[in-house]
Amino acid sequence: MARYSDAVCKLCRREGQKLFLKGERCLSPKCAIERRNYPPGEHGKKATFRRKVSDYGMQLREKQKARRIYGVMERQFRRYFREATRLPGLTGAMLLAMLERRLDNVVYRMGFADSRAQARQLVLHGHFEVNGRKTDVPSFNVSVGDVVTVRESSRGSVYFKDRMQIMEDSRIPAWLSIDLAGMRGSVVNEPSREDIEIPLNEQLIVEYYSR
Ligand code: SF4
Repeated sequence: MARYSDAVCKLCRREGQKLFLKGERCLSPKCAIERRNYPPGEHGKKATFRRKVSDYGMQLREKQKARRIYGVMERQFRRYFREATRLPGLTGAMLLAMLERRLDNVVYRMGFADSRAQARQLVLHGHFEVNGRKTDVPSFNVSVGDVVTVRESSRGSVYFKDRMQIMEDSRIPAWLSIDLAGMRGSVVNEPSREDIEIPLNEQLIVEYYSR
């Protein structure tokens, strides 16, 4: 599947806010938003003073922001949206819950990685199993009750040893639980909208696809 391969900081600059795509760097003064908070490109600075954004423009930007935060391409994102419309409940909240339950996001939320992109790499490289089965598909849909474990063969690696120490101090969302000694975590609840601390207006995304 095609992936975005340009500098990811440009995505934050395009949206005009931090999307936290690069882990620790996002919290440091090196963050591109701290240094150049205007859209990328030759006319980026001028674009800051452009006319008011239309309703469509706002809906589009919100949808793009969500895609970029979760690292999902357009076709797949549209599929998530279609599926969310078939579920009972608010479509926007259902959409976000589905994105949250992607395996790469769950690995990131549990603290096994600094960013979703890093979590995606770890999953692709086969470092995790779900309910005892090796799972290397970042979009794998993790359900309530599922257990995500670092595979036996990866446990001795320097990365995971260091990671366990970092995770001792990290905070995880209420819908997940973690067992550091067992190098595993589980999904204890469906993620609710309140659990998803992401500055997104999902209603605008619903409006974008409902035009
Ligand atoms: Fe975005 Fe992080 Fe890059 Fe800052 S460092 S612009 S928050 S990806």
